[in-house]
Amino acid sequence: MIKKEITIEDVLKNLKVARTSHRETLIRNAYAVAKEAHHGQKRKSGEEYIQHALYTALNIAKMGMRSKTISAGLLHDVPEDTSVTLEEVEEKFGSEIAFMVNGVTKLGKIRLRGTKEELYLENLRKMFFAMASDIRVVIIKLADRMHNMETLSALPPDKQKRISLETMEVFAPIANRLGIGEIKGKLEDLAFKYLDCENFELVTNLQKEEYKQSKQYLDKAVLELKQQLLKEGIKVEKIFGRTKHPYRLFQKMKKHDMNIDKIYDLIGIRIIVPDVSSCYETLGIVHNKYRPLVGRIKDYISLPKPNGYQSIHTTIFGPEGKILEVQIRTGQMDDEAEFGIAAHWVYSEKEKKSFKNFFFRKKEQTIPEKELAWVKQLREWQNEIGKDNSEFMEGLKIEFFKNHIFAFTPMGEVIELPEDATPIDFAYKVHSEIGNRATGAKADGKMVTLDYKIRNGQVIDIMTSRDPKRPSRDWLRFVRTSLAKSNIERAFRKESNK
Ligand code: MN
Repeated sequence: MIKKEITIEDVLKNLKVARTSHRETLIRNAYAVAKEAHHGQKRKSGEEYIQHALYTALNIAKMGMRSKTISAGLLHDVPEDTSVTLEEVEEKFGSEIAFMVNGVTKLGKIRLRGTKEELYLENLRKMFFAMASDIRVVIIKLADRMHNMETLSALPPDKQKRISLETMEVFAPIANRLGIGEIKGKLEDLAFKYLDCENFELVTNLQKEEYKQSKQYLDKAVLELKQQLLKEGIKVEKIFGRTKHPYRLFQKMKKHDMNIDKIYDLIGIRIIVPDVSSCYETLGIVHNKYRPLVGRIKDYISLPKPNGYQSIHTTIFGPEGKILEVQIRTGQMDDEAEFGIAAHWVYSEKEKKSFKNFFFRKKEQTIPEKELAWVKQLREWQNEIGKDNSEFMEGLKIEFFKNHIFAFTPMGEVIELPEDATPIDFAYKVHSEIGNRATGAKADGKMVTLDYKIRNGQVIDIMTSRDPKRPSRDWLRFVRTSLAKSNIERAFRKESNK
């Protein structure tokens, strides 16, 4: 399947932040460089390569990110796949954009080692959060993956399977963690198709059939509810029928012995209203019109889900007793469910501009109590952006992995180490013989001493002697891992036993 060709205008049209001339110029410049660099390259699907860069940028824009992240998205495959180097990207666009491009390139270098699939996926997951010393790198990677999944049919079956597995096991959970529900759902559905074609078809066919059968009830309920709500003075912003994501539906069906009749939220209605009090008023009106199913009312507005999701869900007996799920939320909640943290940023920018919102903020905003602490943090850091960019950059670093670093072998394998670990620790983590025979080390291609402190994301190359060699007792002074210590001590015990 080839996607429709898009242009840079499509990206600019989808900016969620104000389209200033400054932002537009930056994005157009990045596009010009990417287009020139990828000139003549084609994707496996036959499309011009630049289409991949444009779709990645479009997805990033839709997630509410700003011009620098969008520009990095346009350039994300340039250093790896073209003659234009990272240094040139940095010269033209500065260190911040180059840093993001480099982060995306590094994430792409992780390779599957042997058959240890689970270990690989675990490594990929860890790397994501380590490289996500800048969260924007993760967002670019998700946007990139989205387009790769949408054009996956062009690749051979073994690659389709591997990429889909990664998507299901790593990318979708990360999207979920960031609260980007729409992207999570799309990634899962795309991967589902390649991983379990039989059940994908089963579920989508069931869904089509069910939707056809229920459409008239659904349309009737939408119409009746809309009339009733307007009559009662509720400003309905949007009301529409919806179906569940196929993969989510499949998960639910598995829990119910694949019996579709037990799934109550197969199809439903979403109602978008202007504010929180209208949400509760709407709930009352809906229940007055259609009898609710006992025990199926979920108030995620007062008790948000851990990833920040807010909405009211209820299940009703609609026209002719047909069971329907109704979701009620504000426009902001709807955007946040779709775009996650990115939407938080957009809203915080809008709020700063609007005087009226400033005064109504407490009442209108209802920041979920249980909102993930770091999402809150991100938003606070975001407020710093105008003041001091370096402080903002510092702030964006995720603290989770404070005490861990992740380094690469030249083959792209991930080695997890404690902070301040040295090339010797690294060498023993790879293999005890590599540790024992280590003679020197390179970090990102430059020679370093054996007591060098490895930094997150570095590629470490250990030089070894060809002949059997014993480790140096000196190393015990600086190694950080017990693995290295015990290996060095063992080598000496062996020696003295001889
Ligand atoms: Mn790419």
